[in-house]
Amino acid sequence: MHCYNKNLSRHWYAIILLCTVCMLPVFSQDSIVIPIKVINNNAFVSEYNIRTILPVQSTFDIVLQRGRIVNKERYALYHVGLAIALVNDSLVRSDYPVMRQHGEVMIPLDIAVPMLTALLPEYEVDVTVNAITIKKIPTHVKEKEKKTPVTKVSKDAIGFIVVDAGHGGKDPGAIGKGGIKEKHITLQIAKEVKLVLQQRLPGIEVIMTRTTDRFIELGERTEIANKMLKKGVNGLFISIHCNAAVVSKISGFETYYLSQNPSNEEARTTSVLENNVIIFENPEKRKRYGDVEMIEALMITTQIQQESAMLGTAVQKSLDKTIHEFKSKGVKKADFFVLRGCLMPSVLIEVGYITSPKEKKYLIDRNYQKRLAQGITAGIVEFIKEYNRNIANY
Ligand SMILES: [Zn+2]
Repeated sequence: MHCYNKNLSRHWYAIILLCTVCMLPVFSQDSIVIPIKVINNNAFVSEYNIRTILPVQSTFDIVLQRGRIVNKERYALYHVGLAIALVNDSLVRSDYPVMRQHGEVMIPLDIAVPMLTALLPEYEVDVTVNAITIKKIPTHVKEKEKKTPVTKVSKDAIGFIVVDAGHGGKDPGAIGKGGIKEKHITLQIAKEVKLVLQQRLPGIEVIMTRTTDRFIELGERTEIANKMLKKGVNGLFISIHCNAAVVSKISGFETYYLSQNPSNEEARTTSVLENNVIIFENPEKRKRYGDVEMIEALMITTQIQQESAMLGTAVQKSLDKTIHEFKSKGVKKADFFVLRGCLMPSVLIEVGYITSPKEKKYLIDRNYQKRLAQGITAGIVEFIKEYNRNIANY
């Protein structure tokens, strides 16, 4: 309950008490009414009301201004100042952002309604002029609904795989001895990966972010993938790159997944190198990273990161079995812009060092590229097997 300063005059106390009573959710036998508050012509629902009256757990990070509302495996993530939230398997948008008023978090109505609907499947969520009414769905209706499984990002079957050939067009990526460009090698390997995936997983759609030497902005790459997500269909995002080092004797392959905390200094350096591509991007479009970044900052706390780590482990293990000429440098995490905003398990594979004269020779060799593709694909197949087993046990 709210506490008020005892020094307040009785008059003000009475007014505040009256307002507070008006704002409190109203119970009835089988429905809960949560008031809608209008602030500057925009409709909001108080997070305090959601947290105190509904069977959900809510946490709020006061430093980062991020909140999380959870009911069992269902979750909603939002950020103060953003007009977008992540609700289970979908992004929910509003015309205006989540805000704070007198310390209270106010969630836009058009985020709150799908959020509550997703968090509370056993309830029906209705909107009236000044309130949201939440009613328990009668048992006989609930039984019917049980037959339709509730979709959730991590429990949806893998329906597509996006194979992303790193760099392209005006962005050459890393450049090896003799002027060999990363963008050409990544495209050749990505094409091989697509071929092998189609052979081994005929039921799954394989999409390439590029099939020619053209420039694509980082945000566009994951957008291609995110657009394909729908209820019941999940995807994988596989980005293929070649690494570079000042020291030419450094060689080996490694797989990365997204994290704001890099595994080590080398992982951080690799991500900085790959992130340099944004200098080629249109400054206007670059601004978009603001929002994507925020969403991604939320995203990496979710199960998607664990699934990405699992995907990375499967791919790296499989590459390790296939490639013996060079060292497996393991699964690492780092902050790659290309993986940010990707709402599905995603990894970035550094297939080898273009700056190592020995490894470069292999990287441009068609047979070696095919072996890399076999290794990557076998890892993806392993991951999907494990993933489907989890769906079956859900
Ligand atoms: Zn690269």
